[in-house]
This record gives sequence, C-alpha cells and structure tokens, in this order.
Amino acid sequence: MLGFYPWTKGLHGSTGFTKKFPAVAVFVNERTRIEEILDLVYHEALHMLFRLNNVTEITGNRALEETLLDFICPNGYISIALGLKRTIKISPKHYQEFKELYDKLKPIIKEYFERRRFERTSILEYLKKTA
Ligand SMILES: [Zn+2]
Repeated sequence: MLGFYPWTKGLHGSTGFTKKFPAVAVFVNERTRIEEILDLVYHEALHMLFRLNNVTEITGNRALEETLLDFICPNGYISIALGLKRTIKISPKHYQEFKELYDKLKPIIKEYFERRRFERTSILEYLKKTA
C-alpha cells in the first residue's frame, strides 16, 4: 500500500492489521527513489513478521524492536546486502530516544553481521548470549 507524501524531505511508513492480513503503508512522492521505498517496506514488513511469529521478546519491547531494525533496514546491514544502500546510517530520532540501547547493541550487531554470525545463529539468540 502506498500513500502520497507531499513533503520533499523524509519518507514514512507504518504497519497494522486488516481483518485478515498485515498491511504495510509507505508514504512517498514522485521524488522518492525506489531503493528508499523498498528499504522502508522491508523495515515495516519485519515489524509485521515479528508480530505474525509472536516474537514477544521483540514486540513487547519497542526500544529493542526499533533499535534492532534500525541496524537492519532502512540504511542498515540488510539494506547494504540487498544493494539498496552503501553505508549504515541509523535514525537520529531513534538514536536520541534509545541512545543507551543503541550504544550497547551497536558493536554486538556490527559483529553479528560483519562476521556473518547469522549463518549459525539467529540475531535473537546471539543477543541473548552476548548482550
Ligand atoms: Zn520501525
């Protein structure tokens, strides 16, 4: 689902459930690049996957959910792996809100992706062991 977003700066998404299906909304305009849209759609889809799979460690903790996803996409490690972005760029807004958690998890998440720990363990298991 796409909605029109008249401002030239910024890109916004949201999620929710219809009666039967999860929905992802992304608000764009004619200047929004497809890579930015996809990057945000993956972020919102991951929010919904956490809910569909009832990952309560994540869905019950907004700070952890947003922090973890911020390092994944948009502008995260998965974004780079998918060729949507070239560098990691965390959300300044979320960083201000969850600074302590970001600072704590940044080196752990960096190691998880850069040393390809995901080939052996899920990120939740990895965080339980190391964080
Ligand atoms: Zn989010």
